[in-house]
Amino acid sequence: MTKYIFVTGGVTSSLGKGIISASLAKLLQARGYRVTIQKFDPYINIDPGTLNPYEHGECYVTEDGAETDLDLGHYERFLNVPTSQANNITTGRIYQNVINKERQGEYLGKTVQVVPHITDEIKRNMRILGETGDYDIVITELGGTVGDIESLPFIEAVRQFKWEAGANNAIVIHLTLIPYLAAAGELKTKPTQHSVKALLEYGIQPDILVCRTEQHINMDIRKKIALFCNVNVNAVIESIDASSIYSVPLLMMKEQLDKIVLSKLKLAQKNEPDMESWKDFLGRLKNPTSEVRIGLVGKYVELPDAYKSIIEAFIHAGAKNECKVRVEYIPSEEVNSENTKEKLGHLDGVLVAPGFGSRGIEGKIDAIRYVRENNVPFFGICLGMQCAVVEFGRNVLGLKTANTTEIDELTVDPVINMMEDQKTVTTKGGTMRLGSYPCDVKKGTKAFAAYGKQHINERHRHRYEFNSAYLSQYEEAGMIASGTNPDSHLVEIIELKNHPFFVGGQFHPELKSTVANPHPLFVKFVAAAMEYAKKKTN
Ligand code: GLN
Repeated sequence: MTKYIFVTGGVTSSLGKGIISASLAKLLQARGYRVTIQKFDPYINIDPGTLNPYEHGECYVTEDGAETDLDLGHYERFLNVPTSQANNITTGRIYQNVINKERQGEYLGKTVQVVPHITDEIKRNMRILGETGDYDIVITELGGTVGDIESLPFIEAVRQFKWEAGANNAIVIHLTLIPYLAAAGELKTKPTQHSVKALLEYGIQPDILVCRTEQHINMDIRKKIALFCNVNVNAVIESIDASSIYSVPLLMMKEQLDKIVLSKLKLAQKNEPDMESWKDFLGRLKNPTSEVRIGLVGKYVELPDAYKSIIEAFIHAGAKNECKVRVEYIPSEEVNSENTKEKLGHLDGVLVAPGFGSRGIEGKIDAIRYVRENNVPFFGICLGMQCAVVEFGRNVLGLKTANTTEIDELTVDPVINMMEDQKTVTTKGGTMRLGSYPCDVKKGTKAFAAYGKQHINERHRHRYEFNSAYLSQYEEAGMIASGTNPDSHLVEIIELKNHPFFVGGQFHPELKSTVANPHPLFVKFVAAAMEYAKKKTN
């Protein structure tokens, strides 16, 4: 029988529920349990696919093509197990399902209400992954903070779920904040007491409190929290600020979070968590033997969460190479043909980011010209790859007005073109080419050297593609298609023959990079940057 853990948040947002959930899942997995994590988001969008990255950070795409919350990226990076559409549910989706059922007459004769109809639909979704039989434990993270108007139906659903499942089958972990008042030199427990009171008002007694804090919380404080919040003192868990999110599983292990969870769920402790490979990764991460500076040229650079998976992929690839990767954000709008050396000259590698629309695109193209001509390692992702094709068209093939039709619909040389089946799409949200597609990698290429195999699968999120009418022209001039889709022949990877590392992917490799499996293209890109840095100092 599947056991359920709910993770709620109190006091403030941004306490890191996603990281705590992923860390706990990692420890349980390392003990031999099959674990998954799902996220319930209280906003009304059906999914975050239509949100500007400034609003909600990166949109994370799953294997099955769901556009989801970036926390799912953490789940996958920690657990190395793919998530799916079922792992991210929003208020919008819940209401959409209920309203569709109402129109189909499923509630005929009844008044459709938040309780029980919306809460029933939430509970149904909370059970879906557990009912597959694939998991021993399902962790459900509730977005938002207890007390928010919009999260109320979710909290009520948790209350009902916990009661229906019975003791030892479902527990609630409440993540809260213990602020340190520097002037008083004291840690304060009152906000935690208040947020537990708020939960109690909704009928939920948390089983475990995870307390975010900048300073260690001593036994007196733990006892005080335990007494005022009706939890065992060993269920008051300290979560101290960590230098890396990847340290958190070990910190939670030290606090015995996994042990307490298992005893509350009446599950066997099995073995101590096997965290050897994780520790090995952390060791490499924290003791680099070299350093490189990589420029991330993009338009959402003010909000690092917009490029979350790229940043994490660099951390994995850096650790693999025992190299500290310093990522510098470079706003593409600030780059132009006159200042490329000044903006990029100090870097060991340049990544041009994914994106949509025209803002900053000419800066991306100018940046690419500079790295192509100066043999600086280059990695282009999605729009970044498309910009590399446009740049090559303009400056090498002499197609002066080469462009993507996303920017100039009427260009004489549409080297990047809208995909045929996208031309009839009129609605937004879930309508791009999404999710995992196969790709055949050509032998003898840089891409093949990275992957070490011919058949790969990568995840996508785009409407435009390389216009294959131009392919032979490009290949003759040295830009080759080193990866193509076996069915549609869509160009998936481009690279330059005569360049130390110049690779672009139509897909998003960053979404598949995990601690256990750093993405090969990132690993090779970092290695190329290390090589470049070494040559520079010699
Ligand atoms: N805007 C481009 C497209 O739709 C690239 C998308 C992306 O970078 N994710 O094809």
